[in-house]
Amino acid sequence: MASIKGAPEGGIIAPLRQSPQTAAASVAEGMVDECPEPILRLSPDGVILFANAAAGHVLRHWRVASGETVPAPWRDVLAGLMAEKNSTTAVEIECEGKLYDLRLQAVHSPGHVNVWGQDVTEVRRAESEARRIVHHDSLTGLPNRNLFLDRLEQIVRQARRAKVMAAVHLVDLDYFKEVNDTIGHATGDELLKAVAERLRRIVRDTDTIARLGADEFAVIQGDLKESEGADTLAQKILDGFKKPLPVNGRDLDASVTVGVSLYPYDGEDPQQILRNADLALFHAKSDSRGGYRFFVSKMNETVQRRRAIEQDLRVALERQEFALYYQPKLSLKTCHIGGMESLIRWRHPEHGFLSPAEFIPVAERSRLIVPIGEWALFEACRRARAWQDSGMAKMKVEVNLSAVQFREKTLVETIKWVLDAIELEPECLELEITETVAMSDIEDTVQVFKNLADLGVSLSIDDFGTGYSSLSYLKRFPVKRIKIDKAFVSDIGTEHNPGAIARAVTTLGHSFGMEITAEGVETEQQLSFLLDIGCDEVQGYLFSRPLNSDDFRSFVDTFDQTQPAVAAVLRRQR
Ligand code: C2E
Ligand code: CA
Ligand code: CA
Repeated sequence: MASIKGAPEGGIIAPLRQSPQTAAASVAEGMVDECPEPILRLSPDGVILFANAAAGHVLRHWRVASGETVPAPWRDVLAGLMAEKNSTTAVEIECEGKLYDLRLQAVHSPGHVNVWGQDVTEVRRAESEARRIVHHDSLTGLPNRNLFLDRLEQIVRQARRAKVMAAVHLVDLDYFKEVNDTIGHATGDELLKAVAERLRRIVRDTDTIARLGADEFAVIQGDLKESEGADTLAQKILDGFKKPLPVNGRDLDASVTVGVSLYPYDGEDPQQILRNADLALFHAKSDSRGGYRFFVSKMNETVQRRRAIEQDLRVALERQEFALYYQPKLSLKTCHIGGMESLIRWRHPEHGFLSPAEFIPVAERSRLIVPIGEWALFEACRRARAWQDSGMAKMKVEVNLSAVQFREKTLVETIKWVLDAIELEPECLELEITETVAMSDIEDTVQVFKNLADLGVSLSIDDFGTGYSSLSYLKRFPVKRIKIDKAFVSDIGTEHNPGAIARAVTTLGHSFGMEITAEGVETEQQLSFLLDIGCDEVQGYLFSRPLNSDDFRSFVDTFDQTQPAVAAVLRRQR
């Protein structure tokens, strides 16, 4: 028996051996001490007055010995108990791998707390096993539909509080029935296990994966701030199944189709969200297997359109739907075509020609701009080389670089590779970066510009004037040209635009040894103003719209200085 502070020698129950009561007390004492479950008595302020032999685990959990005081949180529990009449409470504790259910009973007179413990380790283990069986799929060990719906409910609740989105991705294994019949059911089971394993690798630990039906899996993506995050995961799931699955020592090809629905757009409650993901999956399968579709909901139309554009963008490159157009630039010094800007166009199978303003921002968000931009760079250089080979005078081709491309670590390497592959002289390529991009991280920009200039390519700052940046930064950049944004050219000559910005940019750019190109020149009045302020080059509908490569070639071949606008320039120069 453990020692008892302040108790008569021999135990808390006084050993009066002579009387029958004494004999009974002695039996009781023995029973308490031999009881296999913990029994303790504490003073109201937490001193352990008594603990039987089986209470060792509990004492070690509190890190105290008999006669010492229990830790502070427990003293609060005792104080709470003593404050009420006849009160009891139960607490579960874990110590040394054992779980104890402790029942605390306050005895107000004379004033102590009895504690009766029960080892519930086995009971809890059995309960959790039962729960696991009820909530998990026995083949893959993944949560089943019941647990999936529970989790989805929790995640929706959190999302509602945090005002974020959540997505459900239903993942269906393509042609499972056929495969199952061919390879046999036992191997079919192994295949399903491999699918579960692959999914575990693809998604984050915090996302829930479940098996809902024979060959149907689901992923819950919580804490989603932008719906694009759901596109990214859906694509990641598809990509994750491009590598074969290891099944019984051999590699099996498998692909999946994914249907996605979003909380809160596609439903507020788990059942509805799941139903709509199912509908999306149905549509995805009828499109063609191996892709993904979102449920078409009441989500606002621009988001919907952006999403559709992104899905189509992913296949546009391989379907060769892009084309480059070329807009000539007229040198005001020589009255010749000084070069051209390449501008991308997308021949969309349903929507016809799409302007870059519509799809470039989407491509940037999804980083699809990297392969698309590489294509544009390659195509522009290839075309420039082909024109030279066919006898056209050498001219610079300008290629627009997006922010994402500009900050890619491999940019310089890529450009060098393209120039080498096409055998185009670096002097024939000019890269345009917008002012906003250039100024977003000046130190990095200076470094990238320097690396590009070392390659021998020219650089220009596009859309100048829209970023409101300090002009003095410009002198840190090894830049050949500034392009004044068309917004500062459009109203020149009217009362809205006295042309002060165009004039200031031209003066300053010249003082740094740069050339100035004005974009969006549409009228003779604008041209005349630009000539007055000494602008070097103009680009705009007044001379030509962007042209496809054949038309550009004819434009150059038939370029005629008697064209009214050109003639006007020549007249002014004389
Ligand atoms: P940007 O680089 O400022 O290109 C000039 C835009 O002005 C082009 O629009 C051109 O067609 C248009 N433009 C030319 N002259 C006139 C004119 O006289 N009046 C008016 N109102 N507009 C004129 P576009 O082709 O629609 O391109 C829009 C933007 O898309 C470009 O603006 C550029 O930022 C981006 N972009 C185009 N091609 C590419 C590309 O290959 N890669 C990247 N990253 N961006 C591109
Ligand atoms: Ca440009
Ligand atoms: Ca521009």
